[in-house]
Amino acid sequence: MISIKNVNKSFGNHHVLTDINLEVPKSNVVALIGPSGAGKSTLIRTINALEEIDTGEIIVDGISIHDKKTDINKARTNIGFVFQSFNLYPFLSALENVTIAPMKVKGLSKAEAEKRGKELLTSLGLGDKFDAYPGRLSGGQQQRVAIARALAMDPQVMLFDEPTSALDPEMVKEVLDAIRQLANDGMTMVVVTHEMGFAKEICDQIVFMAEGKIVEVAPPEKFFTNPDSKRAQDFLSVVL
Ligand code: ADP
Ligand code: MG
Repeated sequence: MISIKNVNKSFGNHHVLTDINLEVPKSNVVALIGPSGAGKSTLIRTINALEEIDTGEIIVDGISIHDKKTDINKARTNIGFVFQSFNLYPFLSALENVTIAPMKVKGLSKAEAEKRGKELLTSLGLGDKFDAYPGRLSGGQQQRVAIARALAMDPQVMLFDEPTSALDPEMVKEVLDAIRQLANDGMTMVVVTHEMGFAKEICDQIVFMAEGKIVEVAPPEKFFTNPDSKRAQDFLSVVL
């Protein structure tokens, strides 16, 4: 579903992604972990072309994302992205946040978009928050609206960049539960996270990055008990 081939990227003379290769099969969940500055955000942002790449190719659901001939706005409708900072539209209600893109980009009628939006919000435990504005919602609720908003476009792929890092601890679980539910439903996902227990539980592969490189790729049982690389061993000795 996601194929990343020989990707390199620099910011000026700072080489932040070096020879990145990664395959994510359909319905797989990949956790991208590693120290701050490793290039995790940059890499996940290249998957929907929020960042350009210097060399290589990224294919999502058969579309070459960085090809000049690709209609990137169309391609992005297939790739949901959830950020650390929820980035909701503050002057739109929860339901309006969820329905605006399906109406404007996909041409759904208001009734169609609202029907689907209400289903999504309800499935995320926000059935009583349709009319609430973001400022009246907790961080965990806002992040669940952001997830509903991404899902409203019916993407084949969901990308999460530290979706719980801006949340108070008591709200982390509700957001992780929402992501876990998506995993159970078979969504293909890449999740940048520091939640190691969560990564261990729901992910098919752990991708460990450091200094702009993928250092190790392993199933969680292997990665968390017996990582091959010294770099991953050192990282785990600090975070576990
Ligand atoms: P991570 O998400 O793993 O913490 P990032 O992908 O955010 O890492 O950053 C990787 C490196 O790229 C860091 O050294 C960071 O300072 C640098 N970097 C990220 N974004 C930019 C940018 N827009 N301009 C210049 N340097 C950047
Ligand atoms: Mg980051």
